[in-house]
This record gives sequence, structure tokens and C-alpha cells, in this order.
Amino acid sequence: MDSRAVKAAHEAARRASLTLEAQCALAPYTSLGIGGPAAALCAVSDIEGLCRGLRHARELGVPVLLLGAGTNLLVSDEGWPGLALRLQLTGLVIDHERCTVRVAAGVKSRLLVEETIAASLAGLEFASGLPGTVGGAVAGNAGCFGGSFGDRLIRAMVVDAEGNAHSIEDPAWFHFSYRGSRLIAEGAVLAEATFALCPGDREALQSRAAELLGIRRDKHPLPGEKTAGSYFKNLPPEQPGGRRRAAGELLDAVGAKAMRVGDAIVFERHANIIVNRGAASARDVLELADQMSGAVRRTFGIVLEPEVRLVGPRPAG
Ligand SMILES: Cc1cc2nc3c(=O)[nH]c(=O)nc-3n(C[C@H](O)[C@H](O)[C@H](O)COP(=O)(O)OP(=O)(O)OC[C@H]3O[C@@H](n4cnc5c(N)ncnc54)[C@H](O)[C@@H]3O)c2cc1C
Repeated sequence: MDSRAVKAAHEAARRASLTLEAQCALAPYTSLGIGGPAAALCAVSDIEGLCRGLRHARELGVPVLLLGAGTNLLVSDEGWPGLALRLQLTGLVIDHERCTVRVAAGVKSRLLVEETIAASLAGLEFASGLPGTVGGAVAGNAGCFGGSFGDRLIRAMVVDAEGNAHSIEDPAWFHFSYRGSRLIAEGAVLAEATFALCPGDREALQSRAAELLGIRRDKHPLPGEKTAGSYFKNLPPEQPGGRRRAAGELLDAVGAKAMRVGDAIVFERHANIIVNRGAASARDVLELADQMSGAVRRTFGIVLEPEVRLVGPRPAG
């Protein structure tokens, strides 16, 4: 890691009065368990600290990486040449009368789903079993089983890349798209979101959630396996409003389940999931992903786009 990058990132953290973590390794903060160190790593547990961190990093020209639970990231073996902020904002308030839930970005999506179901509120049960935080889910407009986070968001608190907090009253601000939003495009940070729900029957919601959990258990690696979920995005629908074709179908057809590079393997039961079965590097994962997408391109003439986000420099060559 370039010593100037480390010095600048440490200086940004110092000016922002953020406490540096002793270890800067990012691998332990990702579900793939892969990646080199950050130049500086700090946990952020309040909006003021987040604003200061972003402001001073911007002033010093230090790149910022926002880390939720790291379940959708592939961190480069060279790490992140800037300030990594682990978002630890917590808090969840249900308004039973208005059927809304206000939740901080660092809360686990799984907890949000459980709490809203326990309050007999419907609308987020599609996300039952979704790993990661609310911040990561809104930033990437995470979705599954016909729902996505952007569909339910009505208000938010966002901190822009300069470190200024804004109250967003119009969800159109987010420009939600398939696995994307303005947050990612602009390096803005979700601090808090409010979702609109509707009254529901608790038992029916619980049984739907259990059903979706069962589907995940059958299709996905077991908890404890190192993975970032689907590696490639599904294909755009052929007609407006139509269904997306699963990238996994194409990958299965080209024999991806037999592919591996080092300890990076394609999951035996889902051709669009890469698992780190030991000490895989980011380079191994990228090479495996190239083999998978290359086979699809040669057979079907279709270019797959990664859903997992690469953080830090891509290895040369
Ligand atoms: C087994 C498994 C199954 C999965 N299934 C699904 C699925 O069905 N559907 C789906 O969409 N995804 C799925 N994922 C991917 C992932 O879990 C989700 O995208 C999740 O919402 C990411 O949240 P995170 O906190 O881990 O984000 P991270 O991985 O930490 O970050 C993802 C991106 O969001 C940014 N980010 C994080 N927090 C904030 C914030 N507060 N403000 C702005 N930007 C932020 C990060 O900088 C990064 O660019 C799966 C992953 C796994 C491992």
C-alpha cells in the first residue's frame, strides 16, 4: 500500500475525530472473506461522525469506501487505497398508526423484516433471509421474489459525498434501477430510511417468510460458506414489464458448475454463485468470473454484467 495514501487516509480520520481500527484488513468484513487492507478503517456509529469523515476525506482527496455487511463486495487483493467506513448506525422505530418503519442504515435487513412481521406489517417479507444491512440493500436496490427495497422507501436521510446531510422526501430522488441507485452513482450515503407498509396478518406473513427462507436454504450455500450471492445480474426483460431471464440458466447451460480457479469454485447447486472454499484471492474470483462470462458470451453472444461490486484496483494482466 502506498505510504502517501495511508498517511492521507489517517489524516482524514484524525481530522474527523474517528477512531482508527487497529487492523485494517477488509477480508473479515466481507462475506467472501477476501481482500487486502484499507489505508485506514474506522467504524462510524453516528451521523455527525459520518458527515465529518466524508467532509475531511473529500478535502484531502481521500477515496471513501462505505461498508455495510460486505455481502455484495469483492475487495481487491491490493485492498482499498483510502478511508473505509464501517457503518454502524442503529435504531428502528415502527409507527403502527401510519404503518411505517424508520430504520437506520446499519440495521440488518433480516432484523427489519422480522420486526415488521412481528408488528403485523406487510411489504418487506420478500426480503426474508436477505443478508446485509438496510444501507447496502437500499444503495443496491436489493430485490428478490418480486420485491425490492426501492418499491417501499418513502423518505430518507442521506449524507452527500461532501459530508452534508439531507432529508429526502421524494423517493424519485434515488433513481432506483435494477440493483442500482443514485447513492452508488454519487458516493452518497444512506443514513436512515422510512418504508411504507400495510396492515397484514402476522401468521400469514410468518409462513410466507418461512417459505422464502426454505427456498433460500435449498438454492443458496449454507450460512458459514464464503460467498457474495449471485455474481452476475439477471438479463434485462425482452419486453417492457416482462421477467428477467436468470443469468444462472445460461451459466448452467455452459457447464459453469464444473468451473473453478484455485479455491474459488462455482457453487454445486447454483451456477451463478461463486464460493470461496478456502483461501481464494480476488484474482482467482475474477478469473473464474471471466471464464463463466466468457463461456456465456461465446455460446449465446450475451455479455453478463457483474452484480457483485469490485472494490479497489482490478489486477493487471
Ligand atoms: C447468500 C447471499 C444471498 C443474497 N441474495 C440476494 C438477493 O436475493 N437479492 C439481492 O439483491 N442481493 C442478494 N445478495 C447480495 C447482498 O446480500 C445484498 O445486496 C445486500 O443488500 C448488501 O448489503 P450489505 O450491507 O452487505 O452491503 P455491502 O456489501 O457492504 O455494500 C454493497 C454496496 O452498497 C454500498 N453501501 C453500503 N451501505 C451503504 C449506505 N449506507 N449508503 C450508501 N451506500 C452503501 C457499498 O459501498 C457497496 O457499494 C445476497 C448475498 C448473499 C451472500
